[in-house]
Amino acid sequence: MADHPVSVGKVQEAESERYGKLRSKFHERFGHDPVFYARAPGRVNLIGEHIDYCGYAVLPMAIEQDIVLAASPNIDNEIVLINMDPQYTEFTCSVENFTITKGDPQWYNYALCGVRGVMEKVGANVVKGFNAVVEGRIPRSAGLSSSSALVCAAAITMAHTNGWKLSKKTLSELCAHCERYIGTEGGGMDQAISFMANHGMAKLIEFNPLRSVDVHLPQGAAFVVSNSLVEHNKAGVSDFNIRVTECRLAAQVLAKTQGLPWREIRRLVDVQDKLEVSLEKMVILVADKLHEEPYTKEEVCQVLEVTEEELAATSLNPSTQELTSFKLFQRATHVYSEANRVMQFKMVCEERRPDALEQLGRLMDASHASCRDMYECSHPDLDKLVKLCRDAGARGSRMTGAGWGGCCVSIVEASRVMTLLTKVRDGYYSPDPARAPHTKEALFGTQPGGGAAIYVD
Ligand code: ADP
Ligand code: MG
Repeated sequence: MADHPVSVGKVQEAESERYGKLRSKFHERFGHDPVFYARAPGRVNLIGEHIDYCGYAVLPMAIEQDIVLAASPNIDNEIVLINMDPQYTEFTCSVENFTITKGDPQWYNYALCGVRGVMEKVGANVVKGFNAVVEGRIPRSAGLSSSSALVCAAAITMAHTNGWKLSKKTLSELCAHCERYIGTEGGGMDQAISFMANHGMAKLIEFNPLRSVDVHLPQGAAFVVSNSLVEHNKAGVSDFNIRVTECRLAAQVLAKTQGLPWREIRRLVDVQDKLEVSLEKMVILVADKLHEEPYTKEEVCQVLEVTEEELAATSLNPSTQELTSFKLFQRATHVYSEANRVMQFKMVCEERRPDALEQLGRLMDASHASCRDMYECSHPDLDKLVKLCRDAGARGSRMTGAGWGGCCVSIVEASRVMTLLTKVRDGYYSPDPARAPHTKEALFGTQPGGGAAIYVD
């Protein structure tokens, strides 16, 4: 339930070995056992890419891979973070006074986002810091949301350390907000699914107000995730923020063509809400009113009747001030058609049709084509991997996560998972000496996992 706090339970039997290693590391560094463990899962978005920040519902599921913090309150008012992975250096700061670097952040900045978000929400004067050992099993910068899992796990560590009881909904919202301190204008799906996920089910997540509905996947459906191993750090490059800006401009230009008060419009969903028409109609409207050639900045200013300075203030963000060209038709077409595919996906699951798997596969294929051609957020290696998965027996495959690299998700009959894994291993990973050593963590079948939680020994 969204209005419940995260659950507190005993460390699960199956996880005892892993948590035992974390406990030993914690003991070795801090001289005593951790008091609790905070875990938050990554996610795979089944459909609905790049539309959460446009106001549209998305359909992810949590994966089993997660980030765990073994933690205990710190009596020196500090936050001390160490990582099981030696590539990440130890970090210490005062809980009362720390800064978060934007743009090219160090790993601990994600954890600090979670800490800050909770502190701001509670607004307490007296706060305790914590010591933590971090261990993550989510492939990084691969579109499975390792960053949000770290933000969410750190947020519940801070809340639990201080005895603050926050609902999953509140945590989802505050984490979506505070991850932006890193400099990305994310939408909120990643944090919401990390907190609200239920075992065995995907979720339709809707925004403003945030709410989630369980989606029962068809019996016999299985999912395979394969990482293209092309990394793309969202905070390090501005591709992501460029798309956010293009969508905002598309919404404002479209609103202007319809005689709507465009300054009140921030997201593509706002235009649809004001016009009160279907998503199909919005796709037609975009084709009718926006042109395929990229819009220049001058043209956007002309249509909106503003100066470049005004445009910078109303519609651009710090990382997109210098842009001069915007593909408004393509981005809006993707968003409205993708939002429509999400609703169709949910409907197919609800109707329990015999050919459900095939239909879901078709929707996922169409989603990939739209991401590749209209949103231009795929990558040649990722396209190759998607095709390989289809040829290896998947009913549907698509890039997942922000893109420009990262993972592909495929839907397949559970009975065909092994064949799919073998063929993709032989086709994508084994022949390439740079990819082959990563096969185990890059290619896996997964079931919908549970949400963030606190565990004790
Ligand atoms: P994604 O969220 O798709 O995995 P991002 O680029 O948004 O990719 O975030 C990746 C960043 O999150 C990494 O560069 C690192 O700073 C941080 N991160 C993820 N997992 C861990 C981990 N286990 N330990 C430390 N930092 C991590
Ligand atoms: Mg991320």
